[in-house]
Amino acid sequence: MEDELKRLEQEAAAEIDALDSSSLESFRVKFLGRKGLFSTVMRQLGQVPKEDRPRLGQLANVIKHNIEERFEQKSVEISTPSSASGASEDLSLPGRSVPFGKLHPVTQVMEEICSIFEGMGFAVAEGPDVELDRYNFEALNIPEHHPARDMHDTFYVSDSILLRTHTSPMQARIMEAQDPPLRYIAPGKVYRCDSDITHTPMFHQVEGFLVDRNVSFADLKGVLTSFTQKMFNDDLVLRFRPSFFPFTEPSAEVDIACVICGGSGCRVCKRTGWLEILGAGLIDPEVLKMVGYDPDVYSGFAFGLGVERIAMLKYGIDDIRLFYENDLRFLEQF
Ligand SMILES: [Zn+2]
Repeated sequence: MEDELKRLEQEAAAEIDALDSSSLESFRVKFLGRKGLFSTVMRQLGQVPKEDRPRLGQLANVIKHNIEERFEQKSVEISTPSSASGASEDLSLPGRSVPFGKLHPVTQVMEEICSIFEGMGFAVAEGPDVELDRYNFEALNIPEHHPARDMHDTFYVSDSILLRTHTSPMQARIMEAQDPPLRYIAPGKVYRCDSDITHTPMFHQVEGFLVDRNVSFADLKGVLTSFTQKMFNDDLVLRFRPSFFPFTEPSAEVDIACVICGGSGCRVCKRTGWLEILGAGLIDPEVLKMVGYDPDVYSGFAFGLGVERIAMLKYGIDDIRLFYENDLRFLEQF
């Protein structure tokens, strides 16, 4: 029996070296299975002299353990081709191309807007998305219970903390900390509880403002006209429509002729032929007083524009929600 065990060990070792993925299972059945060669030899243990049994039993266990271990090793080798061997790799295959990420179209347009204003001497400032009621409303002449608060569809965190509904709080924050002359833009995310083809609950604004001596509405019109011409590279028509904002006086909403329909009316411009892209006006003297500026000495203008709106106009996109569906077929076009 001892000879038979050793012969079996040699035979198994030789076969293990030659194994491939197709012969693994047949080897296991032939040697290690319940009716395999090893079990057959082991059954002879009952016929050997009693005094030899412990020694032969132990030897059989050691040999079986060795065979099992080598078989395991071989199985692992076969199922995970090692790259060091390189034998199965075809070096002539073309390489896999690595797709490059790109900036999101909203980011691209935001950066373009910022660079146009930077070219006109505006500095860029960023502020918190989670804002104090004081900066989002009160410092902008929107006290508690003011009806303008209803128009903002605000997400509140607590009574005095909210997700900013516009980037205008930066106006108050900067004016509070610095003296004129000031020329800033503040880009960022804003949040409103609103959703349809031209509104998403989170969108992007760029707030801009300028404070100095003798700033007039003509300066505001000049800056905004210059901006839209640079942004759209043509003689896009602008319309200043009288409006009301608590923090500017006088105030205007600025429309651009609808570039989707050319002004004839479509669902994006709600059949009016115009698209509102920003609100603007001269900074209300009350707002200047709240940060300690003398409105008889200083004046200024402020504007806030919607980045998605401008991106839609620029690229002829008719549904704002496309920006946030993350469909690569859409995003890869930019
Ligand atoms: Zn239209």
